[in-house]
Amino acid sequence: MEYEEARKQVIEACLGMQKKGLIRGTSGNVSVRIRKYEDAEPDPRWAEEDLLAMSPTSIPYEYLTPEMIPIVDMQGRTVHEGTDTAADEKGREPFSCRPSSELPLHLAVMRARADAGAVVHTHSKFATIMGILGQKVPVNTIPMVYYVKRPVPVVPFEIPGSEELGAAVTRALNGSSLDEKFTAAPRKAVILEHHGLVTLGKDIDDALTVAEYVEEAAEIAYYVSLADSADYGRHGLLSLTGSVSGSIPDAKVKKMLEIADSGRAL
Ligand SMILES: [Zn+2]
Repeated sequence: MEYEEARKQVIEACLGMQKKGLIRGTSGNVSVRIRKYEDAEPDPRWAEEDLLAMSPTSIPYEYLTPEMIPIVDMQGRTVHEGTDTAADEKGREPFSCRPSSELPLHLAVMRARADAGAVVHTHSKFATIMGILGQKVPVNTIPMVYYVKRPVPVVPFEIPGSEELGAAVTRALNGSSLDEKFTAAPRKAVILEHHGLVTLGKDIDDALTVAEYVEEAAEIAYYVSLADSADYGRHGLLSLTGSVSGSIPDAKVKKMLEIADSGRAL
């Protein structure tokens, strides 16, 4: 992928997160991988030579132009600085185009998961609520089966921008849990306690789609829990769901995964 294309994808994703209500202000961040060996299967041995187009820190997304998006290597060193070439013509002070403070998180995920073509971090509301409650988001909708394939765990709080956060997220992304034996699909999402959501995808559209559907599933799980605590369950509405947060039963999820993996629509 050309730098220009990766930079444009970063901007479109930032605006997309805003439009979908997954972030407010300049929160959230996005990275897009520029593979050195584009035609080869993703492989950790070669991933070290890839580059990232990374959203810059603290610039309102509507101001972003492709030149503002910095390109960094997998050690986080700047390969191409972002520059605010539009400042003069707009008659304002130029923005500093340093990479987002969450660069260590993006680098950690990209290094741990060679299959990740893009990483998205949102501060979406219901994912944050589930994180504070310490509740994983269950597979409770059809898009969760199709795009996410497994529950989304919560990573205990770490300081934003820290190496510790990156390490905790990659541990969770590559981890498994005994109650998720119905799939071997690699994780594509984790929730950060008090701090939103991290997703990855084969490309930026995939990572954004996962972020959108995990947020929807978190919202549904939250309202199901609320309804349950209001005793609606007594009338049998929730007795079908099997748990407070309303997960689809594992055996049914497994069956739907087989259908989805065979290429049929659900
Ligand atoms: Zn954040």
